[in-house]
Amino acid sequence: IHQTSFVLSVEDLTVSFDGFKAVDGLTFYVEPNECRVMIGPNGAGKTTVLDLICGRTRATSGSVRFKDQELLTMREDQIVLAGVGRKFQTPSVYEDLSVFENLELSYPRGHSVFGSLFFRRDAEVKARIEEIAETIFLADLLDEKAAFLSHGQKQWLEIGMLLIQDPELLMLDEPVAGMSVAERKKTAELLNRIIDHRSVIVIEHDMGFVEDIATRVTVLHQGKTLSEGKMDKVKNDPKVIEVYLGH
Ligand code: ADP
Repeated sequence: IHQTSFVLSVEDLTVSFDGFKAVDGLTFYVEPNECRVMIGPNGAGKTTVLDLICGRTRATSGSVRFKDQELLTMREDQIVLAGVGRKFQTPSVYEDLSVFENLELSYPRGHSVFGSLFFRRDAEVKARIEEIAETIFLADLLDEKAAFLSHGQKQWLEIGMLLIQDPELLMLDEPVAGMSVAERKKTAELLNRIIDHRSVIVIEHDMGFVEDIATRVTVLHQGKTLSEGKMDKVKNDPKVIEVYLGH
């Protein structure tokens, strides 16, 4: 059954590495304006799920529908253009460039030869960059070299570099790892702003942070869903306490 109300429909997703099923018949659905958090023990398959969705790893079987497109047959760059952004754990900003220039480089310029050869520093691009900088708490640091930003600010900048491409679905791998308490708070605020217009999938271990951001939680264990739902239901699920939260 075609469910158009979901942004993302993952059905029976499976990947085997030499016979070992890292993701094993996984099904879940992400709604518009949802922040889905994936939790679970190390090796549960969380990173592999994001790798499969963004086309980095090829699935053995299953389906990943983003709006009305099947992602499993698409290349990584096509999936980005379709509107799925992925941020990895370590920030990868251009250290020698300013915050403004990092955002400008990420501004989608289409495929034309002119577009890719010349920067358009026109009013429209500038306004968009300023808007994004405001969202990611870097409005006062537009001319600062990225190298001088804190670890947390670099993470926000990288999120901004994704936001400027206007993805409908954003996937983040442990966005608050290494952040200060104050930066975690602001990141929760940022994610809550982002889901006004988009959906997000986050891999996260910090349970306090999960409580602040999650619309729903999926607990993965051995490549399968162990539990799923609102945080207060999931955290009291005896199965979850046994394999994940109990220790
Ligand atoms: P998590 O992110 O939940 O910690 P991962 O998705 O990184 O888990 O890994 C799930 C399992 O799949 C692990 O046992 C890992 O060793 C294995 N795995 C992941 N990628 C590969 C790969 N490319 N080749 C072989 N095994 C892999």
